[in-house]
Amino acid sequence: MHLPGELLDQLSLSTAFDREAFVRAHNESAAPTSIRLNPTKMPPLDASLQPVGWSRFGYYLPQRPSFTFDPLFHAGCYYVQEASSMLLEQAFTQLMPQDKPLRALDLCAAPGGKSTHLYSLLPKDSFLIANEVIRSRAMVLRDNLIRWGARQAMVTNNDPEQFRTLENFFDWITVDAPCSGSGLFRKDPSAIEQWSLSAVQHCALRQQRILSAAWQALRPGGILFYATCSFSVEENEAMANWLIAEKNAEPVSIQLQKEWNIVATEPGYRCWPDRVQGEGFYCCCLRKPVDAAAKEPRNLASIFRALGKQEQSVIAPWIVQRDDFYFQLQQTVYAWPRHCVHDWQLCSSVLNVLYAGVRVGQLMRDKLVPDHALSQCDLLSDSIPAVSLALPEAIAFLQRRSLSITNESKGWCVVTYKQFVLGWINALPNRINNYYPKELRIIKDSLDGGE
Ligand code: SAM
Repeated sequence: MHLPGELLDQLSLSTAFDREAFVRAHNESAAPTSIRLNPTKMPPLDASLQPVGWSRFGYYLPQRPSFTFDPLFHAGCYYVQEASSMLLEQAFTQLMPQDKPLRALDLCAAPGGKSTHLYSLLPKDSFLIANEVIRSRAMVLRDNLIRWGARQAMVTNNDPEQFRTLENFFDWITVDAPCSGSGLFRKDPSAIEQWSLSAVQHCALRQQRILSAAWQALRPGGILFYATCSFSVEENEAMANWLIAEKNAEPVSIQLQKEWNIVATEPGYRCWPDRVQGEGFYCCCLRKPVDAAAKEPRNLASIFRALGKQEQSVIAPWIVQRDDFYFQLQQTVYAWPRHCVHDWQLCSSVLNVLYAGVRVGQLMRDKLVPDHALSQCDLLSDSIPAVSLALPEAIAFLQRRSLSITNESKGWCVVTYKQFVLGWINALPNRINNYYPKELRIIKDSLDGGE
């Protein structure tokens, strides 16, 4: 691997940098594979797996398996995530109260690694807004949050500038900024060709714009978690120092165990691939001073009309009875947690919302056609019949093929693999219709050619 000389020369200016070890780590060892478990869908785990020190949900795998052909991956039981990125957990659990509802924003969120992680860490009755500016990537983010069973999340597709309207609104904001990507060279050597000093400058300017908008949306006393997968000071410490100088941001430190080998820098923390079991990563935590003038967010009249009694009775057998807010947009029924309604209405009035809460299904006169999202979360009623599939049928289901199973129950059923729900089938007297969403299906026939 031919690392850019200009990058190595720049990094050599720092005393914390061991050039020889850094180059060796890139040339002689592979990027470790790690996954993070979903605490609401805990799959059976091989007890010999090595945990990631700084995340109670993270594990290293001895080799990279075929995730595409593992039904538990599609059921949202785990997320494949680079270990250094899981450091967010230490920041969140050490700095945020665990006993009160929080408003959290992930501003640069696709494909959803940090959003799904943050969602798993939020205290009861909190919510997450996961935003992505590129629409196609925002759709992937939505799919990953649905798979995660995230009922208390909203997915938006906005430029960070549009969050300025939500001034002083969020208790926590993650900015995992688009960057020059040098921290991922080992994982993706093709990124080396895109790297240049001018790309670093370009990214730094963009990061400054994103951070400025994020800062406005953060409430006084709230925490901004800033991260990149770049090694360049311009995109890391210099960005944090800019917020400190320009916006009075207060750097906040977190406790890290010595054996993790994560290096404290001024301000923030660095993961070097020659020291940690993970890729290059930078993060820092900044608190907005409490003396910043805080405007209360506006109050809004209700936009959505709750479902009528008759429609409620149609969806009742499908769902766990909770105090959720159900409403209809055209024929589609959505469920929002009651505690989110006020804030989400406000957000809907200023943001481009792609998805929020749970899409329960389509109302067709006195019937419901259930949505895939309902099958993926804990709103689904236990009384829905479930059909357990072995591995070959589970893969066929995920490929959206026709299923050759004999099934006692007729009508709508969920199919499961090792007790985790994969999606819906409708069993008719003479055939079984596969309702796995077309856009999520496994396209490959087999593992030939690898992943
Ligand atoms: N947080 C994500 C995760 O953990 O899966 C990864 C985020 S990635 C490092 C940065 C994201 O910023 C990308 O999805 C990219 O599309 C988005 N992005 C690109 N340009 C942007 C801009 N000008 N403002 C905000 N986000 C941008």
